[in-house]
Amino acid sequence: MKVLIYGSGQLARMMYLAGCPLGIDVQAVDVNTNTVVDPISKRPSEHSLDQAIDWADALSVEFEHVPESLLEQAELSGKLMPGIEAILTGADRVREKTLLDKLAIPNCAHKIVNHIDQLPAAIESLGDQLIIKASRDGYDGYGQWRLDGKQNLPALNKSLSQLDLKRVPLIVETLTRFERELSLVGVRGKNGETRFYPLAENLHHEGQLHVSVAPAPDVTHELDKQAQDAFTKLADALDYVGVLAVEFFQVGNNLLVNEIAPRVHNSGHWSMQGTDTCQFENHLRAVCGLPLGNTQCKTESAMINIIGCSEFSTDLLSIPGCHLHWYGKTVRPKRKMGHINITADDFAGLAELMTTLAKYLPVEHFPKLLDEADKLAKIKS
Ligand code: ATP
Ligand code: MG
Repeated sequence: MKVLIYGSGQLARMMYLAGCPLGIDVQAVDVNTNTVVDPISKRPSEHSLDQAIDWADALSVEFEHVPESLLEQAELSGKLMPGIEAILTGADRVREKTLLDKLAIPNCAHKIVNHIDQLPAAIESLGDQLIIKASRDGYDGYGQWRLDGKQNLPALNKSLSQLDLKRVPLIVETLTRFERELSLVGVRGKNGETRFYPLAENLHHEGQLHVSVAPAPDVTHELDKQAQDAFTKLADALDYVGVLAVEFFQVGNNLLVNEIAPRVHNSGHWSMQGTDTCQFENHLRAVCGLPLGNTQCKTESAMINIIGCSEFSTDLLSIPGCHLHWYGKTVRPKRKMGHINITADDFAGLAELMTTLAKYLPVEHFPKLLDEADKLAKIKS
């Protein structure tokens, strides 16, 4: 089987690696140059994009911000999975919120603003503790502004009035005081069969994911059910094929959807060591029409992102159950360079490994690691 992925970053790379044992060949498209590239070396292929589309049995994406003209061409081939509607829904917060509301899936109270003059009315109805998000092209917290009381309204107005809100409207939403962030990564096959990974608990810092723990601690049957219901409604409505991630805020015993990602997701990277069949393999299985793999896990896992840093001792590999996944990119501030997966029998074991791991890593790039270890150490497994 042959799969062409739009986007040539680490997610395409990890899909390529997951495809190797199954004999699935994965090629990538650099969407900045419209060239087909090798997902590991990034060297251009001798084939044009048209030839690669013909070559592939399935087309898919590693991120949602693929130019619409490319997605339309891919959709016309009849081989794009998930389909264009699912990808555009993940890429555009207006479409996303509209779908969530239509399906009656709980999410943060919000207003769509496509002219700066509409901002006062949005603040009037939502309050002055707000998060304002560009509806397109945002990721890792980029394209977001916070209003923390009316005093910073003039500065905010100034930044927002420089934007072309007709082209890219804003979503103004209430800043939610949540207990924690969770995400559900699941996979839906061509026949509609769905499998879920356990909910992951995600720790963000400055709008970026730093640590995921899965299965998340203290997940009740009721929380699982809310998450799986939201996922199923979305996946069915979008006639979805492949891996889909749904990000949630837990408020009391309720889950609010924050956003969806129509692709493999950073909060599912733990599955490379934590389950039988990782999210990358399951995505390939789904789009190739193969049977889906087991998503259950026998251990506790944590994934620690390596962000903006390339200097650390590889002696950390001496820690039992510690795996490094390095993406081979040039270092830049806030850039995801790789991740570390650790597995243990229980949360106490995970906490111990995390504490040891912290000794090998520069604290300025891993500011949350020891706090997370402390938190896990207090949990009764
Ligand atoms: P990513 O691509 O990393 O998922 P993103 O740029 O698409 O991020 P969001 O997921 O919407 O953006 O926001 C990033 C983070 O900002 C969230 O994970 C959460 O920590 C915080 N955040 C977003 N929306 C809210 C909200 N309404 N209330 C409180 N915090 C929020
Ligand atoms: Mg997010």
